[in-house]
Amino acid sequence: MLGATGSIGTSTLDVIARHPERYRVHALTAHRSREPLLALCHRHRPAVAVLEREADAAWLRERLGEADLPIEVRSGPEALVAVAEAAEAEVVMSAIVGAAGLLPTLAAVRAGKRVLLANKEALVMSGALFMEAVSRHGATLLPIDSEHNAIYQCLPVEHRGGLARHGVTQLLLTASGGPFRGWSAEALAGVTPSQACAHPNWSMGQKISVDSATLMNKGLELIEACWLFDARPDQVEVVVHPQSVIHSMAAYSDGSVIAQLGNPDMRTPIAYGLAWPERIEAGVQALDLFQVARLDFEPPDEVAFPCLGLAREAMAAGGTAPAVLNAANEVAVAAFLAGRLPFTGIAELVARVRDAEPVAPADELEAILEADARARRTAEACLVRR
Ligand code: NAD
Ligand code: MG
Repeated sequence: MLGATGSIGTSTLDVIARHPERYRVHALTAHRSREPLLALCHRHRPAVAVLEREADAAWLRERLGEADLPIEVRSGPEALVAVAEAAEAEVVMSAIVGAAGLLPTLAAVRAGKRVLLANKEALVMSGALFMEAVSRHGATLLPIDSEHNAIYQCLPVEHRGGLARHGVTQLLLTASGGPFRGWSAEALAGVTPSQACAHPNWSMGQKISVDSATLMNKGLELIEACWLFDARPDQVEVVVHPQSVIHSMAAYSDGSVIAQLGNPDMRTPIAYGLAWPERIEAGVQALDLFQVARLDFEPPDEVAFPCLGLAREAMAAGGTAPAVLNAANEVAVAAFLAGRLPFTGIAELVARVRDAEPVAPADELEAILEADARARRTAEACLVRR
């Protein structure tokens, strides 16, 4: 469990706890939230726990010692990689937020694990290299992002080799539109972090909540869909669907459109990924269509929400462009949450970094990490100059 204390981590542990006969937790990792990790260690009794800083790890070691819990505690990025490739782990949940998840997720892929991918930033940064590693090392990659999990469920079981081969003409990526759907660009200028984090349908970590509010989340998901399903950007259409009941769709050449529906609860895609190709109980309430009553659809407003277009352009530019987009966005979102940047400044900063950074080939990990680091420095410099 990479990112055990987060929103996806908590939901995953909830599903796992419903099936003690099927699953045991080998390792739990967190960034700095040592108290929540201690509580999870008590409940799930992993063999290993990982925190970023050695001081936090020492604190946890002491608490676990007092409680007589034989759990090995490690620290640092190498420890994340070590647990992700450990022989004891058959399944790795990749639920760290942001670029910090890239190396451990790639390590799990290279160790041929079943990888449950929630950490979309890792795939956005390293798309070609990541997918090549999946096939080279025989990893099983199951998308957990609800839209991609839905599309996965709407495609034929064996869907490698391009969409056209399977008669798929388009992927319809649904979007709730976020908390500011229908707002004008002027109204958006003054929104606060707490408004941006109050998502109408999903309860999620702060970073993805802000991404959902700017529509950058949908942009990252468009890139994610291209890599996962071997699609061109023009084969992925974003459909705003405010009820978040249809989680995405696949359109076929015979006119069929297949959709996956359900209540907006991440335990559904998580349970799907854990048990695939079987189905297990996930604790999710059955969908009541009479209560839903109606399903609405509208096109996204790309003028008020320029991040979606920025992501599409980055995918079309290829190479390190998506890694640069992601890095600039991570810096911008953190600055917005810290009160250093207005909401509408997020897209502006991402565009400025794009204009300043060259696009390089992204077939080596070093080139991707270098582009990520440079883009972060450029973004910070733009913030200081504002
Ligand atoms: P979160 O902020 O709630 O949790 C993030 C987890 O990662 C925490 O356990 C945190 O301790 C850990 N972490 C953060 N920074 C780290 C670092 N530098 N090093 C090591 N660990 C670190 O985030 P979340 O909402 O659970 O999202 C996790 C990932 O899943 C994101 O990539 C997000 O885009 C994706 N995702 C989330 C949802 C959702 O409903 N929350 C849905 C789809 C996709
Ligand atoms: Mg999603």
